[in-house]
Amino acid sequence: MYHDERAHLRFRPKVTPSLFHSFEFCFQIIPTFINMQWYNVSHMEEHMNKKLPLHTKTHLTNALKQLYISPLERCNLACKICYTAKPTHILTEESLRDFVLRYKKVQELESVLLCGGEVTLLTYMPSFINWLTEQGLYVQIITNGTNLAFLDALTKPSLVNVIVSIDGRQPDHDANRGEGQFAQTIAFLQKAREKGCALDVFTVVSQRNLRDLSAFEKELRELFGLSVHVTYHPRKSRAYLQNHPVSNRVGEVDGFGFLSQKEMNTLAQEHDVFPPPILGCYQFALMSDGMVYACCEGIRPIGKMTDDITVMREKLEQRLHDWFAGAVTAPEKQDTLGCVEPQFLCGMSLSYLHMRKK
Ligand code: SF4
Ligand code: SF4
Repeated sequence: MYHDERAHLRFRPKVTPSLFHSFEFCFQIIPTFINMQWYNVSHMEEHMNKKLPLHTKTHLTNALKQLYISPLERCNLACKICYTAKPTHILTEESLRDFVLRYKKVQELESVLLCGGEVTLLTYMPSFINWLTEQGLYVQIITNGTNLAFLDALTKPSLVNVIVSIDGRQPDHDANRGEGQFAQTIAFLQKAREKGCALDVFTVVSQRNLRDLSAFEKELRELFGLSVHVTYHPRKSRAYLQNHPVSNRVGEVDGFGFLSQKEMNTLAQEHDVFPPPILGCYQFALMSDGMVYACCEGIRPIGKMTDDITVMREKLEQRLHDWFAGAVTAPEKQDTLGCVEPQFLCGMSLSYLHMRKK
């Protein structure tokens, strides 16, 4: 998948997870632990009382109920327009469990979004996902859909949302990923549906597939009915690639040209896109080198995975304060949900943001 597919996803669980609706869970915890959790979560919420717009404050509360984790960058494909570096770091299962447990102690958590690289390459991944779902957490996994066997190891597939990267219709997908990849990816989606997973699709849009999106969606509907939702990711602009310290590979441009601002704007007005027009794409994002960012496209860490979660959360919140503090001089910012990397803004300009919202 693409780094930009490390999208902050709108949390749309098909099953509403709630720890306290879990019979097993009720009997696993002791009252003292509940009290400790309650105290710590309330303590965290005190920090929310700084002056953020109410809609942003509410959105932040929900955004922090999801964790984004990218435990590796390695991948088994070599897509022509992939723009991520592929360092060899890999986070261990033990370190991920520790991070999730420490996060849960101070922050209400409902779901975990896993992305890479290709996360299904990690042999521990089924066991980690099963551990998460056993606790009632909803799991979203972004994958290139090449590892069908991976699906057999999931013990609670109804708590897993499989988000598959498809680059449009078969000729477009295979042109980027290699001959035969489209058929394999569709087979993955079909198997995931049979297993009872929720399905979603991410599609990166370049000049190659821009004019074929309606036909692509029609094909998907014929195959899967209305059960597959597509989020579009305009190919990362040159401005993004020039400013992101790690995700900065231009890749092939011939035949896969970048969208113009006007085309990106039309796409944002007609479809669900990432980043969304009113932003709000922040969340805790743990990357494979152990650094934690304030969003999945972040360029300045708020800490490392062993740091105090509360302190990192305060830094994230401070970034939002900075965004709105600058809103007087940049009115385009005012009615957004905010960005935690105001100097970067995913390579977008403020005036473009304003156009997208119209
Ligand atoms: S090579 Fe392809 S599948 Fe792998 S991370 Fe890059 S875009 Fe995603
Ligand atoms: S840099 Fe800003 S716009 Fe981009 S994902 Fe992060 S918060 Fe969203």
